[in-house]
Amino acid sequence: SINEQESHDFYVKVVVTGDSGVGKSNLMSQFTNKGFRLDSKSTIGIEFSKKLLKLDNGTVLAHVWDTAGQERFRSLSATFYRGAKGSLLAYDVTSRQTFINCKTWLKEFRDMADPNAITVLIGNKNDLRHLRAVTVEEGKIFAEQNGLLFLETSALENYNVEEAFKTLLVECTRDMQ
Ligand code: GDP
Ligand code: MG
Repeated sequence: SINEQESHDFYVKVVVTGDSGVGKSNLMSQFTNKGFRLDSKSTIGIEFSKKLLKLDNGTVLAHVWDTAGQERFRSLSATFYRGAKGSLLAYDVTSRQTFINCKTWLKEFRDMADPNAITVLIGNKNDLRHLRAVTVEEGKIFAEQNGLLFLETSALENYNVEEAFKTLLVECTRDMQ
């Protein structure tokens, strides 16, 4: 863009968290229009993508941060979380352990990010119907108990991915002027 500063009304940093392998990088690349990658490699470090999104109350410039493999160490750096107004917390609907671990990821996010930050819980890989290990109901209950929004997605089929990010960004910009 010619002048990023003039092309948006809001700026928001959001992070994508959750266990390794749940589909974070593919959710992110679907949202930022790079498509699904079957052979996604994770590199060590931190990566972010930018996306401009038109919402009812204006245009938001989202910086979406991806863990780029660091989540394997079960914890992410302060730099990763600093200034984040929201998170997509993802699990894999075919892996109960990734769902159980959401509790730990949520705690870390709430300890490290803005205290008023928003989290959208994502049950990803809902295309793998025959392998499902976590019901939609269980996802909903965990979300309700922890004050989260909730959606199931498929990064593979590009189902609900834009909706998930949009839900998060609408909530994150609700109180901005
Ligand atoms: P990350 O480690 O959380 O970043 O996960 P990746 O995005 O690297 O994905 C891990 C693996 O799951 C890759 O083999 C992807 O192709 C696969 N994957 C990601 N999202 C989906 C999905 O929605 N459905 C299916 N069937 N596979 C997925
Ligand atoms: Mg990744």
